Parts: sequence; structure tokens; C-alpha cells
Amino acid sequence: MHPTEHFYQADAYRTEASALILAAEPLDGGGGRIAMTGTVFYPEGGGQPSDRGTLTLPDGTVLQVTDVHEKDGVIWHTVPALSPAARPGTPVDQRIDWEWRFDKMQQHTGEHILSGTLHRLFGAENVGFHIGSEAVRMDTSVPISPEGLRQAETEANRFVWRDLPVQISYPSREELAHMTYRSKKEIEGQVRIVTIPGADACACCGTHTASTGQVGLIKILSAEHYKGGMRLSVVCGGRALAEVQAMQDRQSAIVAELSAKPVETANAVRRVHAELTALKFAQYGLCGQLFDALAGVVSPHEDAIRTVPGLDPDGLHRLAVRLTEATDGLCAALTPTDKGCGYCLARREGDVRPLTKALNAACGGRGGGKPGICQGSCSAAPEAVEAFLREAAHS
Ligand SMILES: [Zn+2]
Repeated sequence: MHPTEHFYQADAYRTEASALILAAEPLDGGGGRIAMTGTVFYPEGGGQPSDRGTLTLPDGTVLQVTDVHEKDGVIWHTVPALSPAARPGTPVDQRIDWEWRFDKMQQHTGEHILSGTLHRLFGAENVGFHIGSEAVRMDTSVPISPEGLRQAETEANRFVWRDLPVQISYPSREELAHMTYRSKKEIEGQVRIVTIPGADACACCGTHTASTGQVGLIKILSAEHYKGGMRLSVVCGGRALAEVQAMQDRQSAIVAELSAKPVETANAVRRVHAELTALKFAQYGLCGQLFDALAGVVSPHEDAIRTVPGLDPDGLHRLAVRLTEATDGLCAALTPTDKGCGYCLARREGDVRPLTKALNAACGGRGGGKPGICQGSCSAAPEAVEAFLREAAHS
């Protein structure tokens, strides 16, 4: 079949075109794929997702394009259902989802600027690139410090501010031999070079903004060490604005919770954390005194069943152990929870596992442990658990 003319390469801002259908084929599993003489739809490749949009047939039928792939020079447009009117020779009006495409152009061009900057500053090669639905993933060949990344981010944005032209050229083999450019692989046939003066030169078939100013903002969101280099998460343009707005919303919520000025939130969190640590320490000591007092009035052989509100699993465990120091009878620490009751059963000498199993069965509980001590929770209230334990102890 005749190779598809790439309208999107000649003009990345072209959103509509008319072309003739060359082939329309059903696909296994439903739907079909359509090839035309030319297309404004970018096919998935080079880290950039395919375009979406519509194909309108002469009878008014509108086909949604959900995916676009290139194979052997032919670009295939995936549609959920083929129309009988989609026959070879039929003219089709193409229209891409421009908002979707422009977002990819911003991310893609921003990636060129940042990759070129990281290459110039640190000799970093871009060894992985993918425009995801949330952020752009970029993998570098060498590790880069947080300060280095901050420097590269700032320099990359200076190229945005200068609003430089993004130049497309198709050099001859001889011209290419004398050019310095980034390339991910050996390219056959005509090479397309994307040049941003001073920032980057790279062999690329993707769609780019006409000038760097349209990238808006380049922001590195996160960086982690990955396969000897860095894996960066980057957003540009509209995505960067959305990210800043989301950060502001999160900050507003935090500011309201802390009653602190935005610039003071980190200090306020540190203060709250320090207060919490001090409170936990004080509570640990007070619980120790309470458990001593509760154990102090237990006779040496009685069953000691005590309910204390507000205990966490560690507190239940501590109380049960403390009670076993006072009596060789059954010891039980209980606490009401929003789902029923938390419990810890213990006995200085003996096995509380059979009793725990019976408690779980009778009171809708789950949990277990070692012979001397078992812990868990029940859907029944503490009063019901205590009644069951007293009944069981007597039988
Ligand atoms: Zn590109």
C-alpha cells in the first residue's frame, strides 16, 4: 500500500484535513482500522502517545479515532466500529482533539529543552522517555544531584522565556555527518532534526510547539536513582499549571489545619510532631501508673478483667501483662472500639488460646497469639465480652 503522507510533520498546528480512504479493515475483537492517503493524526511513537479525534464520512457518519499506529509507512486509525460507507476511495474529513495534542506538544518540546540542558551541563544522555497521562517520565544515563537538577530546571526555563524558534530540518547524509545531535538510535532513511538554538538538537519525528515560549513552564516534580542514572517525573505547560494549582489547594488545606502562614507550614508541622511525641511519652508514663494502680487491688488468685477506654493494642498488652504480675487467675484487658471491643487475654501459667478461640466464636472476634497471651478484637461490646469471660471461667 502507498505510504501515508504525514501532514502532522509538515505542520504540527494543522487540526483538520481531508484525505481518501485507502483501506478499511475489521479488527479481531471488534472495531476496525482505516488507512488514508494522508493524515493529521500522530501515531504512537518516540515516547509520545497517539492522537485522538474523529473521521467524518460523506454521509455524515462520525467515527471516533481511539488509537493510531504506523506500520511499514502506513498509518492505521483504530475506530470502535467500521461503517459500510468507509470504502476505499471515499473522502474523509479528519479532525484531531487539539487540546490533547497541544498538551503532548508542550510536554515533548519541554523534554527536548530539559534533555539538551542536562546533556550540556552533565553529559547526561536521555535513555528513556514517555509522556504518561500524569507526568513525563525521563531517564538519564548518569546520576545528578538535587542541586544539579535545580540548576538544569532553571536553565531550561530560561530557554522558555527567550521564546526561541523550534526549527525542523531534513539535512542530507553529508550535512548530518558534520552535525552534532542527540539520537536514541540509528535512523534509516531521511533524518528529521529538531533544533532549539543553544538548547538542543535531536533527531525526532514527534510534534513540537513552534517556539519555546509555548512550553510555558518546565517543572521537575520528582527524581529518583534508577539503573545508574535518574528517573525524572516532569510536567510542562498546562500540566505544570494544573500541578501548581493542586499544590496550592493542598497547601491551603494544610494551612487551615495548622493555623499557620504558608511559609511557616514546615515549622508548624515540626512543632505539632514534637508536641505529639511529648504527649505520647507522657501518656505512656500515665498508663504505667494507671496499670500499677489497677493491679495493686487485685488478689493473688482472682480473675482480673479490666476495661479501660482509649487503649491501643500496645496499651492492652501492657495492662494484661501487668495484671499477670498480681494474680495467677485469668487476666483480661478490654477497651471499647468503634467496631466493638479490643482485648488482650493472659495467664501467668497456662494456655489462654482455647479461651480466645471460644471468645472469638461467641463474640464475633478475631485474633490469637501465644499460650500465655492472646490479642484481638470482637464485634461485641466490652460488657458482653466480660460477661462471656466470667461465665467461661466458672464453667
Ligand atoms: Zn521531539
